Amino acid sequence: MRRSLPALDGARLAAAALVVAIHTSPLTTYSALGDFYLTRVLARLAVPFFLMVSGYFLARGGWKGVGRLERKMALLYGAAILLYLPLNFYRGLDPVSDWPRLLLFDGTFYHLWYFPAVMLGVLIAWQLARLGLRVALPVAGLLYLVGLGGDSYYGFLSGVPALESFYQALFQLSSYTRNGLFFAPLFLLLGAAGVRFGPRLSALGAALSFAAMSAEGLWLHSLDVQRHDSMYVFLPVCMVFLFSLLLHWNRGECRPAREVSALVYLLHPWCIVLVRGAAEVLGWEGALVTNSLGHYLAVLASSAGLSVGFCLLRHRLLLPPLSRRARAWREVDENALRHNARVLQRALGPRCRLMAVVKADAYGHGAVRVARSLEREGVHTFAVATLAEGIALRRAGIRGVILILGWTPPEEAARLARWHLTQAVADEAHGKALAAQGRTVHVHLALDTGMHRLGIPADDHEAIARLYRLPRLKIDGVFSHLCLSDRTDDAAQAFTQSQLERFYRTLDWMRAAGCRPGRVHIQASYGVWNLPEQPCHYARVGIALYGVGSDRSPVRQPLDLRPVLSLRARVATVRTLAEGEGAGYGLAFRAERETRLAVVSIGYADGIPRDLGARGGGLLLHGQRCPIVGRVCMDQLLADVTEVEGVRPGDTATLIGRDGGAEIRAEELAETCGTITNELLSRLGARLG
Ligand SMILES: *Cc1c(COP(=O)(O)O)cnc(C)c1O
Repeated sequence: MRRSLPALDGARLAAAALVVAIHTSPLTTYSALGDFYLTRVLARLAVPFFLMVSGYFLARGGWKGVGRLERKMALLYGAAILLYLPLNFYRGLDPVSDWPRLLLFDGTFYHLWYFPAVMLGVLIAWQLARLGLRVALPVAGLLYLVGLGGDSYYGFLSGVPALESFYQALFQLSSYTRNGLFFAPLFLLLGAAGVRFGPRLSALGAALSFAAMSAEGLWLHSLDVQRHDSMYVFLPVCMVFLFSLLLHWNRGECRPAREVSALVYLLHPWCIVLVRGAAEVLGWEGALVTNSLGHYLAVLASSAGLSVGFCLLRHRLLLPPLSRRARAWREVDENALRHNARVLQRALGPRCRLMAVVKADAYGHGAVRVARSLEREGVHTFAVATLAEGIALRRAGIRGVILILGWTPPEEAARLARWHLTQAVADEAHGKALAAQGRTVHVHLALDTGMHRLGIPADDHEAIARLYRLPRLKIDGVFSHLCLSDRTDDAAQAFTQSQLERFYRTLDWMRAAGCRPGRVHIQASYGVWNLPEQPCHYARVGIALYGVGSDRSPVRQPLDLRPVLSLRARVATVRTLAEGEGAGYGLAFRAERETRLAVVSIGYADGIPRDLGARGGGLLLHGQRCPIVGRVCMDQLLADVTEVEGVRPGDTATLIGRDGGAEIRAEELAETCGTITNELLSRLGARLG
């Protein structure tokens, strides 16, 4: 079992508790300075954290969720305005008088500033992110610095008349600089960057920068220069390290924690009023109001209780989110994936690095998820097949080298440059056309050493030299591809040898001719399994990373790899056929005896070949193997479960993977279908959960 630790969602609860502290000052009874430190320094980590989480998930989704988030925030904000209207009247505030300022920046009740800040901040961060984080982060950082001058550092700047009038003008618009313009964009973008350091560096960095921020906060406090106290120079630094640490710990999610923390945030000012009211009625003012800690705990407990109750009620009344496992789904074992990466890296030796091939949605495993997981294992070079695949990885925050192995139209050179993608050069004309677009393009030259697919003929030295003369073509690497390395017969081995020789001969010529090849690579998975160590910088490994071979043919150096993917589907119904009755399209199945059939919710639209039944395919139910019968339909297939006791609707069938002691390996399924796992896995349908 994978360990689950939803660190991000858990930290939301802690952050919500800190926000409650800001508004209740738990330590005032004991120490004014202690309370300042708790609520104006430590608790100031909370809101930036919420912003970073939003930025992180927005960027992971390629900022496609901006519209949805804006709508959700607007809705929540609207509801919150109504919710706090009674308190506003009670406090004698007339929000109508300066409604634009209140509505767009300050929020109509003190903690509600967060909603307009997120809405404005997300729009700004999203537009900035389109320019790339290298531009976006400095711009957001500058905005933050401006904000800083109107917040903790105001006392220093207010002495300069020009600055004083600048900030006074700002304060007409928004009472604080902690808002969607100066405060939110930086943290949203830092979240989007999703920087990950190693766990030790993260912890050390967080501790040091928090110590620095503490010193900064206490110093500013002692000088009495703070107009407001939510922005510090060291706050963003500390947040980056803290967030990196949380990302390191984070496994899985806990949706209820998200909901409860949001509700605590939303409801706690009401709870302050309620606790005061209740204390008055019960005569407990001493413990629940006068004592600041008692007051804080009462407010925290009541807002948490109210929030949990509200969540439970909502899930009773509304529908819970749709489970990924409602019908047919893949399970990706990230531990197995990372294990495979380690095993492969070890097999490659110390000089050759793993280039993870994550084309075709990582052979059906989910490219972003796979790339992220591998990044944590120290893999920093990826290969994809298309420009769109490369951009999707970048949008999800994947760094390092991303090499596009397939052809990209030369007109897209600007996009290659924009996303820092490295392009394989398919032939001389392709290289020249790429170089003619007026942009510097980073490329690896593909050499054709005998496969006759993509690549410049390896012996065409003149063509290679001509490409090296193009100033816009930055040739970072040279590679070739083997087409018989999966076979170990003599003829195949001889051919592979000739490909290797041609490759290294060309590299020798290049070095002698002053054409620096840069990073060189030739092995794919079977090159690793069947060849000795190569004097290369990378091996481009696809299928082996996913823990399976293309088929079941033996390899020369087997590695301890574990299958990463399982494919499962639920039983829709079970029916009994009398002897002689048929089932499915064409009545391709005929019962030769009384037969129980399970109708399983997966079909060819999910990537299961239509003739799997006819070819003798099977699946696992209750740890037992059952034949798939009849013709596979678009959305269902039939399995003969006569021999398996107690199969019921809703049961889970396994098409690839383990169930109890039984296992169906992807190689076996592929062989049954007359293909290789590469094809089978990369065709798994987008409809799967
Ligand atoms: C797909 C591909 C690979 C990966 O091949 P596997 O056999 O899955 O390891 C490597 N190099 C190139 C050029 C490819 O197209």
